[in-house]
Amino acid sequence: MLKGILNVAHDLLEDSIEKGETTIDATCGNGNDTLFLSKVTGENGHVFAFDIQDQAIKTTNQLLKEYSRKNVTLIQDSHANISDYVAVEQQIGGAIFNLGYLPRSDKSIITRGESTITALNTILHHLKKYGLIVIVVYHGHAGGKQEKDALLKYVGSLEQKAFTVLQHGFINQQNDPPFILAIQKR
Ligand code: SAH
Repeated sequence: MLKGILNVAHDLLEDSIEKGETTIDATCGNGNDTLFLSKVTGENGHVFAFDIQDQAIKTTNQLLKEYSRKNVTLIQDSHANISDYVAVEQQIGGAIFNLGYLPRSDKSIITRGESTITALNTILHHLKKYGLIVIVVYHGHAGGKQEKDALLKYVGSLEQKAFTVLQHGFINQQNDPPFILAIQKR
């Protein structure tokens, strides 16, 4: 069986993150990626998890409590402000973005190209050699196409000598299925 998008996203990160590293969930949403990163980095590792919505922070906090995970800093702020929370010298082992809106919530609160790209730029500076930023691009909602187009332009123009960029997705599915962009630092 071919693996689904979310499994592939996790596999990519699991293969590149080492225990004890610091990682970023740029859009914690319902907390599934935060929990995943918390497990992958282990008790000596750390996760900075961002979301602008109160509901997302609360749901994620609840999930982390259920699994007794203590290595996460939850931050209710835009990922455009990551540099306010992560020390200049801090190396990042990997990061994930899940774009779009929070499922079963306000569909007008969405990630946007400009802030997503600001966050990517910041994380790329901190990323370890061969580290990955994995972006799950949801783009079927209102505003999604603009963000997708901006992102593809941005990642497509990253210097080939400095970064390797992968696009992975199913190309015969209806209703604008999500796809993965992964940026690896060389
Ligand atoms: N589309 C995915 C879920 C995406 S959740 C799915 O269907 O599974 C995206 C999350 O990003 C939401 O919880 C939203 O509040 C958050 N978000 C939007 N803009 C943000 C920003 N600038 N910084 C951090 N989080 C943001």
